[in-house]
Amino acid sequence: MSEILVYCNKDETAFELVSKSSEFAKELGATVSAAALGGGAAGKADDYFSYGADKVYVSEHSALSDFYVGTFAEALGQIADSGDVEFVLLGSTKRGKELAGRLAQKLNAGAITDANDLEVRDGNLVANRYAYGGNTVASIVVNTPKKVISVMPKTFEAVPQGAGQGEVVNVDLDLAAAEVRVVERREKAGDQVNLEEAEMLICVGRGVQDKEDLAMIEELAGLISAEIGCTKTPASDWEWFSEERMVGLSGKKCKPSLYISIGISGQIQHTVGVLDSKVIATINTDENALMFNITDYGIVGDYAAVVPKLIEKLKSL
Ligand SMILES: Cc1cc2nc3c(=O)[nH]c(=O)nc-3n(C[C@H](O)[C@H](O)[C@H](O)COP(=O)(O)OP(=O)(O)OC[C@H]3O[C@@H](n4cnc5c(N)ncnc54)[C@H](O)[C@@H]3O)c2cc1C
Repeated sequence: MSEILVYCNKDETAFELVSKSSEFAKELGATVSAAALGGGAAGKADDYFSYGADKVYVSEHSALSDFYVGTFAEALGQIADSGDVEFVLLGSTKRGKELAGRLAQKLNAGAITDANDLEVRDGNLVANRYAYGGNTVASIVVNTPKKVISVMPKTFEAVPQGAGQGEVVNVDLDLAAAEVRVVERREKAGDQVNLEEAEMLICVGRGVQDKEDLAMIEELAGLISAEIGCTKTPASDWEWFSEERMVGLSGKKCKPSLYISIGISGQIQHTVGVLDSKVIATINTDENALMFNITDYGIVGDYAAVVPKLIEKLKSL
């Protein structure tokens, strides 16, 4: 019976993949396993079982105490070679994407990164990913015996299935010490934000041309406890925001309950990051802006006039 092996350095993403894999497993006649690697790995097995894993491979090998991509690829390669693993699903985090290529090389496997959906079609696991700068979706099937696919975080829901049980396999990995050594850790400079978890999100686009206007947008955000994100230009070109706040194809994928776009045209490279929002609201001067095609509540107008009115209204409630 073939096996779907899941690994991600971020637990939440790994749980999402395990959850969804347990559905695929039924359709593919497969089992689901997860790899828990590094310090504290043994303590994670029950979590994986509760999301539907049948088996958890555990290794707390000293070479896995820090993330070095070559060592983790070797570890996952040995695990994948030891069982009946056909599919390796990784989280498409920065680390996961790098891991995917290295692991695929070790397994002689085809690899797909940044999948934004997976589905079983005619007995195959089909990966969908954006192509041509986000203008189209390519559906891809890997034909090699083993297949490596990295999937964007938040593509699936992590659905607990109650206290599960499964097999814990303590793997005896043959790993050399990593070729790099961590000599120091420092908090990343700049603001730290997790837009992927934001319940309320306001994004700022190129239509907001005066940096001083961010003050009123921050005030609005404060009134509804929203995080602030942005399109590419305010982060990459104007450097008003850190890249952590860029939303879209090259940025974060978010699923807020409410997403408000301010001065954003609605190009697909941005909107792929917010399409899963429950409610989308838009403020734009151009009534023909693409953004309105996916908007639930829209205001055609200059944000400099609209935002203060929204603030006034919210304060009066
Ligand atoms: C490979 C690739 C990857 C990319 N990845 C990303 C990504 O991850 N995220 C991302 O955002 N972009 C990304 N882009 C860029 C993307 O294609 C768009 O260029 C970008 O999203 C447009 O940003 P915008 O909507 O802020 O600006 P614009 O398209 O210039 O739109 C500005 C909008 O503001 C409105 N406006 C102007 N004045 C006002 C006003 N006073 N009040 C209200 N509205 C006003 C205008 O009507 C217009 O609709 C990527 C591009 C490529 C090629």
